[in-house]
Amino acid sequence: MNKHAKIYVAGHRGMVGSAIVRLLKTLGHTHIIEKTHAELDLTDHNAVRSFFESEHPDYVFMAAAKVGGIYANNTFPADFIYTNLTIQNNVIYESHRIGVKKLMFLGSSCIYPKFATQPIDESALLTGALEPTNEPYAIAKIAGIVLCQSFNRQYGTQFISVMPTNLYGLNDNYDLKTSHVLPALIRKIHEAKVAGAKEVEVWGTGKPLREFLYADDLADACVFLMHTYTDSSIVNIGTGVDITIADLAKEIQDAIGFKGRLVFNPAQPDGTPRKLLNVSKLTSLGWKAKTPLSRGISLAYQDYLNS
Ligand code: GDP
Repeated sequence: MNKHAKIYVAGHRGMVGSAIVRLLKTLGHTHIIEKTHAELDLTDHNAVRSFFESEHPDYVFMAAAKVGGIYANNTFPADFIYTNLTIQNNVIYESHRIGVKKLMFLGSSCIYPKFATQPIDESALLTGALEPTNEPYAIAKIAGIVLCQSFNRQYGTQFISVMPTNLYGLNDNYDLKTSHVLPALIRKIHEAKVAGAKEVEVWGTGKPLREFLYADDLADACVFLMHTYTDSSIVNIGTGVDITIADLAKEIQDAIGFKGRLVFNPAQPDGTPRKLLNVSKLTSLGWKAKTPLSRGISLAYQDYLNS
């Protein structure tokens, strides 16, 4: 991927896509193709076809997806499976048709079985039942992985797939109904502090364990793998460290300086009990996460305050 290669970052306005674009620009890439949703509707196959035929990108980062937290996934399952299947089918198929040199498909750690052995190795894929709250989303992502692998087998394409853990960072979604836990808690705790509230509700029991990766670290891993990785088998991207939701909430509380109480609401779902990726494959390839959670939280909080 030389500095003048044409690189299409699908989903460049999202947290992940924008982090990839930021990094590519810093690295001196001069030909990055960005299309807003209004300019290119990825669910419209004809529009995607004409885009690929006219732009002919050399490299594609497939970071466009309909994403959301536990509430959104549980409430809009049809939207999550249908939209993701459609946009990834369109982008992957048209990348094949025009002969894209290399495509990276971004999956998710929720593709793994609910009770997978922890930390979760790449080989756990398709070895057990999924977590019901996000099964439709996970099945779309699994289909995307198998689609890439199948094109590689049948047509000799180079479509690689990476599985990021739970992400947070600049440009995150702070809508409390659709966001993930980390941005949701930043917003709830900040608003409680400003309002002088005595307590903040944290969903579930606080016991589930999650791993959190700063989006700019993910972008760094993606660009690293785009340069170095050529195999069809999936690669986990994470920090290798997890934390309980209760401890995460405390850490965010300290960063924001909220003096009230955190109240857990077990009426809300916990989701999968633990989600920690085994990142030994990525480590052995030569990449490690750089941003500690405490620093990432303060960068994300600053970004929230500025937005
Ligand atoms: P998940 O990793 O797919 O389960 O997605 P989330 O990031 O939405 O949720 C992770 C965990 O955080 C779950 O156990 C939630 O119940 C818990 N959680 C606690 N408070 C919140 C909140 O305000 N919003 C969200 N989305 N999750 C929360």
